[in-house]
Amino acid sequence: MIIDCPHLIDTHAHLVERRLLPQIGDVLARAREAGIVQVVAIATTAEDSPLVVELASSHPGVFAAVGIHPNDAGEANPTDWDAVVRLAEHSRVVAIGETGLDRHWDRTPFLVQQDYFGRHLDLAYRLDRPVVIHCRECETDILAQLAALRRPVKGILHSFTGDWDQARSFLDLGLHLSFAGMVTFANKALDPLRDAAAKVPLDRLLVETDSPYLTPHPFRGKLNEPARVSLTAARIAELRGISLAEFALATTSNARRLFALLEHDILLSSEAT
Ligand SMILES: [Zn+2]
Repeated sequence: MIIDCPHLIDTHAHLVERRLLPQIGDVLARAREAGIVQVVAIATTAEDSPLVVELASSHPGVFAAVGIHPNDAGEANPTDWDAVVRLAEHSRVVAIGETGLDRHWDRTPFLVQQDYFGRHLDLAYRLDRPVVIHCRECETDILAQLAALRRPVKGILHSFTGDWDQARSFLDLGLHLSFAGMVTFANKALDPLRDAAAKVPLDRLLVETDSPYLTPHPFRGKLNEPARVSLTAARIAELRGISLAEFALATTSNARRLFALLEHDILLSSEAT
């Protein structure tokens, strides 16, 4: 074992996306080489939820989240939700989602998005699993729907893109915040995001790739994969004035606690062979 491996966890990767799945052995081998020990593979539909569970069942260190993404909820069949509910109890499923709300894309009527978001929140609560929340131009709507539950919410605001004020509102509801590659982008407009990444309490902080999207600098334009989570981690550690090792120790233990991941259930270095 390499002693100076940062031992990071990629808490959000779309590993069954059509560009990653055909090369999954190599993707996981590169992740392991980069010091990534565990990955949460995220589903977006009733069709890819079983694929994510199958992937997690056949690869140590890979875990599944099942659900229907707000942008896909409009095309879900009446039986799709039942399929997600059945899969949710599988032993490799560690979270419910990705769910949430999205006003950027106009693919699902907003009332339908809110209905599905509510179903995911109820299911996650019933099973005592964290919920994985997608938020695009919907901070107020999400805060309102969560506040209406009148209880702390166990879960993650994934690929957080807001400022410190918004971060605080989500933290107050009990959520963890997960940061993706955008913190590494040079744009001045992202300084408020970097400010939030520097201020989130260390015990509520997570890191992710959102692979194959949001590739961190200097690989923008290329496909993203879990191995690249270390670039985002290094940038946030720098913003916070701590070492990458300290950052990894904290975020990895946060992810293990939240998703209830076993410490020895990790990616195998022989994955590609
Ligand atoms: Zn995602």
